[in-house]
Amino acid sequence: MNKTVWNKLNEEEKAKLFAFNEEYRKFLSVSKTERTFVINSVKAAEEAGFRPLESFDELKEGDKVYVNNRGKNICLFVIGRQPVKNGLNVLGAHIDSPRLDLKQHPLYEKDGLALFDTHYYGGIKKYQWVATPMALVGVVCKKDGTVIDINIGDKAGDPVVGVSDLLIHLASKQLAKTGSTVVEGEQLDLLVGSIPADEEKDPVKANILKLLKDEYDIEEDDFMSAEIEVVPAGEARDYGLDRSMIMGYGHDDKVCAYTSLKAIFDIETPERTACCILVDKEEIGSVGNTGMQSRFFEYTVAELLAKQGEESQLTLFRCLSDSRMLSSDVSAAYDPLYPEVMEAKNSAYFGKGICFNKFTGRGGKSGSNDANAEFVAKVRRVMDDNDVMFQTCELGSVDAGGGGTIAYILANLNMDVIDAGIAVQNMHAPNEVVSKADVYEAYRAYIAFLKDMD
Ligand code: MN
Ligand code: MN
Repeated sequence: MNKTVWNKLNEEEKAKLFAFNEEYRKFLSVSKTERTFVINSVKAAEEAGFRPLESFDELKEGDKVYVNNRGKNICLFVIGRQPVKNGLNVLGAHIDSPRLDLKQHPLYEKDGLALFDTHYYGGIKKYQWVATPMALVGVVCKKDGTVIDINIGDKAGDPVVGVSDLLIHLASKQLAKTGSTVVEGEQLDLLVGSIPADEEKDPVKANILKLLKDEYDIEEDDFMSAEIEVVPAGEARDYGLDRSMIMGYGHDDKVCAYTSLKAIFDIETPERTACCILVDKEEIGSVGNTGMQSRFFEYTVAELLAKQGEESQLTLFRCLSDSRMLSSDVSAAYDPLYPEVMEAKNSAYFGKGICFNKFTGRGGKSGSNDANAEFVAKVRRVMDDNDVMFQTCELGSVDAGGGGTIAYILANLNMDVIDAGIAVQNMHAPNEVVSKADVYEAYRAYIAFLKDMD
């Protein structure tokens, strides 16, 4: 067996590792959606001395800056000793995770029960999302401009909701189906009430509407302009008898986002300007104005350059071309229960540090950013110089499946990009698992990259 991060740490370092992970576990537990992740990131950033970009007239070395894009996407910078135009060292990750979203007309009554209709978001094995406690987190935006925050199911004493599943006693036909159809998308509806109001038509629904009006001032039509995400209820937990892992919702990709965020908080003024960009919508193709395909990132870098007196587009292009990026997203952790989908030499293992994927994609690397070997060599040097343990891996064996990340989108700006990240078990299940050793080592890798990549 090759060495792990656990083997190289002394007791003092291990204590640091556990303390770092406890902070992560708490942050993750209250940051399950892109919106709550941004709210908590802004709060932490301000405590770490970051200020909104618009509050700066000019930018000088050591300045700490953030830009919040619509509450769902955030970009942070620490201005380097070199001018911004010389290029950035960028850490990127996504903060949306697979889940169920309420439809725009969600509420209905059927056979004496009130339900919320959902449309799932991202790639899920639907049968995993039933018979488990769920929370409702999001916003309802009213016509008058009021935004009502919804967060039901995570606070002590809160009720939870959930999707029902068929009892085993009556499931013989259901269990003969293939996995992808055992539970269908339109069956992923939430049971939300069973008390009838004193009304003729849909009395149980009427009772829920009255409750929503009384407690939140929401009318039925207001769901048309709402974004309510249905996420597993409850805190992330220590996992394993030795507490070496964390089980929780949304490690993909909040584990890379959190560690990247902490790295930019904790670096001294770097040589090159450091950047951390956390984006929305990766799980559905990085689309929309808060996803990585948005021009938001380029516009923000242009604003930064302008505050250093550089307003030409050519300067922006040169800056982006001279930038380097670790595009971080979770990797598939080797699972001894399912060895057949992995190729052992090129797999990610728990405890062996941050993963670098030269490429991702599917069916012959299709759709992948394939990092240039010259750049991979530089990344190896920076990791070795900083005593960071890393592993190189692929997303499963050839033709077992595959997937993509945001890496190619930034590579389109002509910067050097490599896929990096943390190994996870149960990817896209309601509860995913990571190794605390990898979480800590990724944080150390990000600091090394921001500080030393030239
Ligand atoms: Mn991901
Ligand atoms: Mn994913």
